[in-house]
Amino acid sequence: MEACWQCGHPQHESLFCQFCNSLQRPTPDYYRFLGLERKLSLDSKDLQNRFYNLSRLLHPDRYLRRTPKERQYSLEATAILNDAYRVLRDHVLRAEYVLKEEGFNIGEQRSENVPPELLEEVFELNLALEELRGGDSSARPQLCEAYARFVAMQDEADNRLSELFRRYDTTGDREALAEVRGVLNRRKYIRNLVSEVEKELAASAA
Ligand SMILES: [Zn+2]
Repeated sequence: MEACWQCGHPQHESLFCQFCNSLQRPTPDYYRFLGLERKLSLDSKDLQNRFYNLSRLLHPDRYLRRTPKERQYSLEATAILNDAYRVLRDHVLRAEYVLKEEGFNIGEQRSENVPPELLEEVFELNLALEELRGGDSSARPQLCEAYARFVAMQDEADNRLSELFRRYDTTGDREALAEVRGVLNRRKYIRNLVSEVEKELAASAA
């Protein structure tokens, strides 16, 4: 347990000393920083309240007449707060963060690694994309259909993620985390396809 740098009282992982109220060295752990348990499912309203509350407490105006040490800590804490909020409010970034903290390797999904069950769909999609790029607008309806299918797959992936989040949060089961990683990779692949098709459809409509 650390002691307060100012008054020496033991600290219980609090950003402010319970005795002298001075700002302590901020933890870089997003969950601990926000006073949350490391859960994959988070209440977004609660997260937002914590963010606004800490933003107010860390406002630079409050530290103008404080010691250089506290001013330094307030800057570090503000940077961590902003990163933590950006990451934890997004279910994909949040899951990637937890995977990394739990020792999983989350390499970038390379776009050439097509998930095997999507090979045929992706092959047909690429043919339609080629036709459209070649100026054949008859490929457009087919592409719109494929687009709708891939958007639906992305929704399915999100539903699966919610289930796995709940499973991990209640059981702490690492197999659930491993499965989260698989679904995230698949989702990232689908997400890239969806943006590519969106771009082509917009370009060909112009
Ligand atoms: Zn203190």
